[in-house]
Amino acid sequence: MCETYPMEASPRHCVAIIGGAVSGSVAAELLAEAGADVIVIEQNSRPYGKIEDGLPRWHVHQRHKEYEKLGARLSKPGVTFVPQTRLGQDIAWKELSEEWGLSAILLANGAWRDRRLPVDGAEKFLESGFEYQNPFIYWFNHKIESNFDGRQIDVPDGAVIFGGGLASIDCVKVCQIENYRRAFARRGIEVSDLDLEKKGVSKLCELHGIDDPDELGVKGCTLMYRRRAIDMPLAQPPANATPEQMEKTYSVRRKLLEVAQNKLRFHVQDCTMPLSFVAENGRVVGVKTIRTKVEGRKATPIEGSEETVPTGLIISSIGSVPEPIEGIEMKGETFAFKDWDLGVYDESKGIFGVGNVVTGQGNIRASLLHSQKVCTYLKDDYFKGALGAASAEAVQQHLNGKTPLSADEVASVHARVKAHHVRAGYEGDYASWIQKVSPADMA
Ligand SMILES: Cc1cc2nc3c(=O)[nH]c(=O)nc-3n(C[C@H](O)[C@H](O)[C@H](O)COP(=O)(O)OP(=O)(O)OC[C@H]3O[C@@H](n4cnc5c(N)ncnc54)[C@H](O)[C@@H]3O)c2cc1C
Repeated sequence: MCETYPMEASPRHCVAIIGGAVSGSVAAELLAEAGADVIVIEQNSRPYGKIEDGLPRWHVHQRHKEYEKLGARLSKPGVTFVPQTRLGQDIAWKELSEEWGLSAILLANGAWRDRRLPVDGAEKFLESGFEYQNPFIYWFNHKIESNFDGRQIDVPDGAVIFGGGLASIDCVKVCQIENYRRAFARRGIEVSDLDLEKKGVSKLCELHGIDDPDELGVKGCTLMYRRRAIDMPLAQPPANATPEQMEKTYSVRRKLLEVAQNKLRFHVQDCTMPLSFVAENGRVVGVKTIRTKVEGRKATPIEGSEETVPTGLIISSIGSVPEPIEGIEMKGETFAFKDWDLGVYDESKGIFGVGNVVTGQGNIRASLLHSQKVCTYLKDDYFKGALGAASAEAVQQHLNGKTPLSADEVASVHARVKAHHVRAGYEGDYASWIQKVSPADMA
């Protein structure tokens, strides 16, 4: 029997959350503790989101710590987990938002679509020497699993990565780890990814009696950034930073980059933008770049500074945006949120966003804090009928009439949930499900 179905449905608010990772699970816990009936709809078998598929797998302890926290939140009374159910595919947006009769819907589905690299014709080289960050890190995190049946990616020496944020540093690290692990192996020395990332190349050379890391013959990949290296968003200044605070931020950024470079010996070329790809027989063999002049946030190409850099792999890591879902209005590359701070998509219909899908910030804590803020607003103001950010008359009317769902309405929502549980083969117990869908070697 399913433990999570309400034995006797009583009047209450019923909230669907799309995505069960950091922001979705935080929202689920907070709202369930406030007495709501919470349904977490997750596309994957495991609800770990970017913790499993973004945060590189050398963060072993952090990953497992976060998995545990997510599991504890999703196992709270009042939370019903619905795995292997993708909004936009298994449930249409129109059905969820217009037919289920929910009190509110929270979009916690993160940012899984890479921003397009602004190079004409780049997309036609996808998987032929051109990769985007999200599938690249997904491959790195899963390739060692015995049941991994995804595409394998070859990482030749001398890759070029376009980016500048923390995730682009992770792409760079993956390239260097792959090449140095192979270089050590050619000498009969086995080193792990974890060792390479933690100890660094020079230390491992020392430990294995290699005098000079250059002897390993790895040329190294290059991180290219369109602004100055000190502008890379590796550390954030406080809001309205003073010149002194900006200097401090620059120095933290310099230090972070220096530490990573010292460990994994990659190159950084700042003030550089891609212009076009060079290809032979349908595969990337190089990239044409141009240098930039940086003034404030503006990076202007410098005519005559074009250069062709030979490379067999180009990785674009210039940010992630939400994947479009049919029926959800977009504003440019993101969902059309009306209030980004409180994640308001449509207050009168009770539709909000939490975490990465709103903030766009690739950061666990930022996702957690944003989710807490939105849910505190929901439970303290929204469900109580107080006016929130958008105080239009229509909202007032809707909120005034916002009574909890009746017992029958709650039961009708759970009948729909049950149909998805049956399709997914989920029997209602989170812990045994996770055990079933996590093969022994799945980190
Ligand atoms: C390479 C990389 C390195 C990172 N390193 C760090 C780091 O060192 N420190 C740090 O703090 N942060 C790091 N981050 C960022 C951090 O992992 C994320 O910002 C954070 O985990 C996002 O949490 P979230 O819950 O908002 O979104 P996500 O983790 O993206 O969760 C969204 C969930 O929604 C589900 N979903 C998506 N679409 C649908 C749909 N249509 N239907 C149903 N379910 C759906 C997904 O499967 C997923 O479970 C890194 C990210 C990347 C990519």
